[in-house]
Formats: sequence, C-alpha cells, structure tokens
Amino acid sequence: MTAALDRRAAIELPRGERLAAHDSAVAALRDKRDAAGRAEPDFERLREQARAIKAHTLDHLDTYLERFEARAQEAGARVHFAADAADLRRIVLELLAAKGARRVVKSKSMLTEECALNPHLERAGIEVVDTDLGERIVQLGHEPPSHILMPAIHRTRADIGALFERELGSEHGDTDPGRLTAAARRDLRARFLAADAAITGANFAIADTGTLAIVTNEGNADLGCALAPLHIACLGIEKLVPGLADLAVFLRLLARSATGQPISAYTTLVTGPKPGSELHVILVDNGRTRLLADPRHRSALSCIRCGACLNTCPVFRRAGGHAYGWAVPGPIGAVLAPALAPPGAAHTLPFASTLCGSCSAVCPVKIDLHDQLVAWRSGDAVRAARPRGLRAAAFVLRHPALYRAAGAVARALWPLFGGALAPREARAWLESRELPERPGPSFRVRFRNRS
Ligand code: SF4
Repeated sequence: MTAALDRRAAIELPRGERLAAHDSAVAALRDKRDAAGRAEPDFERLREQARAIKAHTLDHLDTYLERFEARAQEAGARVHFAADAADLRRIVLELLAAKGARRVVKSKSMLTEECALNPHLERAGIEVVDTDLGERIVQLGHEPPSHILMPAIHRTRADIGALFERELGSEHGDTDPGRLTAAARRDLRARFLAADAAITGANFAIADTGTLAIVTNEGNADLGCALAPLHIACLGIEKLVPGLADLAVFLRLLARSATGQPISAYTTLVTGPKPGSELHVILVDNGRTRLLADPRHRSALSCIRCGACLNTCPVFRRAGGHAYGWAVPGPIGAVLAPALAPPGAAHTLPFASTLCGSCSAVCPVKIDLHDQLVAWRSGDAVRAARPRGLRAAAFVLRHPALYRAAGAVARALWPLFGGALAPREARAWLESRELPERPGPSFRVRFRNRS
C-alpha cells in the first residue's frame, strides 16, 4: 500500500477483538450470500442476464437517460442533471431553500457520501438526520460509514450501547440490540414527523416508466418520502435500467448477494410525486461519463452496490472500510476511485488488493474487478502514485547485481525487519504478525555449492 494508505490503515485498522468481530460479521454475510445463491437454481443465469442488461444500458445510456427524463416529467417529477458533486450540492440546497426547508430526513445513499452532501447542508444551517439505523449510528459517532450496506459494521454492540447512552439517553450498559433499536426508533419517529423534506437515493431508475426503485430493509426511505412534502432523489446516471422486467432480474440478485435474503423487506416504486407534494430527481455524473468513455473500465458502472465484493475481500475484512479513505471502500471502491474520487490518496487504492479474484467471483453483475485493478495499476495516473516500496522493488528487480546484493543484505539483517528496521508504515501491521523464519541461502548460492 502507499504511504498515505498505510498511515490511514495504521490509524483505522480494527485491532484485537474488534478485528475478530469485524472479520466474522463480514464473513457471515459472504456465507449467507453463498447459501442464497445455492438455494436459487437460476442464480448463475440471473448473473449473466444482469451483466448483459447493464452492458446494453451503458451502451445506450444517452437514450435511456432521455427516456427516463421524459417519462418522469410526464408523471409530474422534475428531473435535474448535476455535472459534479458541487452541482449536486448546489441544486439540493436551492430546492430546499425554495421550500424554506430546514429539517431533512435522509436515507442511505452512497452517492451523497461521495458528493459530501451532509456537511454542505449542515454548514448552511439545515438539520440532516440519517434514518438508516447504521447510518444514524455513524452520524451520531461523527464518522463516515465503513461499508456500503452496513455502515456501522465496524462497531461492536458495546460501542453502540455507549454511544446511544450518550446521545439518546438509553440505559447505562444496555447492549441489547432490540432495546437499542427501539431507542433509535423513538428518536427517529419524531424527526420523520417534523421533516420538511426527504432526501433518498435510488437503487434503480426505470427508463420506460420514469420510476425510481428504492430498496431498504428498514422502510426508512419509504417513510421519509411518504411523509415529507418535498422528496429529492439523488442518483448516479448509471442507475438506469430499461424496463420493469429488467428490474425484476436485479431485485432477485440484489438482496441475495447483499445479505442472503431472497428479497429485501421493502421495495418501493416511485412514479411521480404523491398528491400535494414535489418530487425532484437529480441525475449525477461526477466522473461517470469519463468512466463510460473508457472501454476497459466502463463495466464498473454496472455495480448495484450489493457489497458482496467487500464481504469476500481479505483486505477489506482485515482493514475495515475507513482505511480506504473514500466513500466507497472495498474492491469496487478501489476500482471506482481512480475515476470518481477527488484527486488524492484514493487514486492509489488499486494497490490495496491481493488480486485473489474472490471479488470478481461473487459479483452479481460479473464485473471483472481484479482484472480492472491490475489495469488501473498500469495506468499513468495510478503508476505515478505507485507506493515507494513498489517503485524501489521494481528498480531492484531490473538490476540483477543489485538484486543479488539486496538478497544477501536482507538475509543478514532479517530479524531486524520485524523490529528496529521495520518501516514506520508497517509497524502497526507487524504488531499482530510475526515475520517468517529467516530464509536460507539463495538458489544461486546453493547451486554454486552443490556437491
Ligand atoms: S462490484 Fe459487484 S459485488 Fe461489488 S458491490 Fe458492486 S455489484 Fe456488488
């Protein structure tokens, strides 16, 4: 990993019991996904169908965007296009200001995380309350989500009990999930009823009907947009699918890949505003057309944000989502970051992978994630940000004499690499690991000395 990535990981890595809890919670999701896949005889056929639908939609995205816009407006919605994150933030703020909205309930949306919407609205004096339980936990803890589906998966029950005691007045030492959830629900209910506006994402947008499909397990997005007089839906332009029959394919895959459920608890289709209210749909580019124009990486836009690639990734499981330093962690985050993240350390994320290929094997839309990571590594922008260690290794490997000398020095100093000579960035990593035994003589030496 790069120095910046290593530094972040040194701060953010879960340790000890917390690491074990994170690893097993994430691994359990992977197991549930596998069981759900085995129980659905059509699973592999659905994956292939989903891949093909997304590839077709991306090939004709301009047509489907125009069709969606026309149908949604016929149904009474207003459709806006945002070129980038700043544009999205401006449009949302203007819509809220036009209605005098000061209190907003918001459901989970990775796009709004990507575009840093919450802090922008808060700076403008608007109260934004995240209503997904996991999102609410990280919001109360003043930290970003660590997983695209389970934002607080890095938190233990004890952490959440202490947080709720401090923030919501729940009982001291209470770690019972049922009671803690009830405390959050009591707090949120009043906020739902008082909200002037609801901001949601959308899992899919159906071009033929101008419909938004919003999928949750808690019903929070549905309640927010059912109660508030203003509904603003923010979604990336890649969320389009052609028709309702296509949506059915994705609904059969999404929950199975995410949590192992046959289907999510709530799937709401929104076509136009409810009587007496306004619906605004903001379709956001923010680097997506750049990715669309790149044939090697365009399929990354097929992602349906199920989280399966995070749950199976050995790096994500050990490092946790915060170590990635960008809104979307895990393999898909590492693939999207060079194109979508603001310039900075996130561009080196393609190096945060073992390239084991497990992510590609579980992806419901068959994105070749690990191949794309390799492709990014050889791209100019990412190469320029290559970690120091890798640059040094490449130089040594290109010079045989240097390679032999480096091997001899490394063998002599081997025990010190776990201690005094350990690079600063690797020290946290070495706290819970031991170096392997000192290697014996090199092949060349053994060959020379053979009897
Ligand atoms: S890349 Fe595939 S596995 Fe990963 S979140 Fe997206 S759809 Fe799910």
